[in-house]
Amino acid sequence: MIELDRGAGLEAIAAEVRVCTRCRLHEARTMAVPGEGSPDTEVVFVGEGPGYNEDRQGRPFVGRAGALLGKFLTALGWQREDVFITNIVKCRPPDNRDPEPDEIAACAPYLRRQLEILDPAVIVTLGRHSLGRFMPGERISQAHGTVRPVDPATGAANALAFALYHPAAALRTPDIERTSYQDVAQIPAALLAARARREAAPVAPSSPVPPVPDPAVAATPDPAFLAPSEALAPDDQLTLF
Ligand code: SF4
Repeated sequence: MIELDRGAGLEAIAAEVRVCTRCRLHEARTMAVPGEGSPDTEVVFVGEGPGYNEDRQGRPFVGRAGALLGKFLTALGWQREDVFITNIVKCRPPDNRDPEPDEIAACAPYLRRQLEILDPAVIVTLGRHSLGRFMPGERISQAHGTVRPVDPATGAANALAFALYHPAAALRTPDIERTSYQDVAQIPAALLAARARREAAPVAPSSPVPPVPDPAVAATPDPAFLAPSEALAPDDQLTLF
């Protein structure tokens, strides 16, 4: 899909989201937050739901947690405009409570359709609810900094999920912030692994999930599984398409 078509497709979804009344979260919202970023990116960040500032501005991750997410991207040499940022639910849960299962289910088709258009190589999950969508059954305390193949039923036909703590959790706990910077440094390696996997086994949306290549059994080391410091020269910047 060419960028113009992707952009138009994403804007059509955003227009639906802005007037959506599918679940009770529309009642207290100021603005729905469809998501934003490059229509042609390889990396999509998925958080939980909009907070106070996001609800006011209609944009994802614009408060303090968003500022930290921006620092994470800067650490990689990327900018917000290089990736796509969205949430599991597009309207703010009152008092920042967790979204309810029926609200998550009602909103799920929007994210699925966004991912069908974006066809990302990597989905970076931010926090527990996003982890639950893309790495079901995993615990964030164990899964952070690791990748799993994504079920194509999510809309992402051939992607790896990479788990991060939610930036809001990192703001509350210095240890989690330090860990998150270490995890973020692994994202370029995850992207290289995802690119290699997509080249080796392009899949149609209905095909089974291909496994992540196992570096332990590979005849030659897969650079995608090297630590970022080994996979990329220190001055290299992994360019996103
Ligand atoms: S959270 Fe999603 S399903 Fe619920 S009203 Fe907002 S856009 Fe619609």
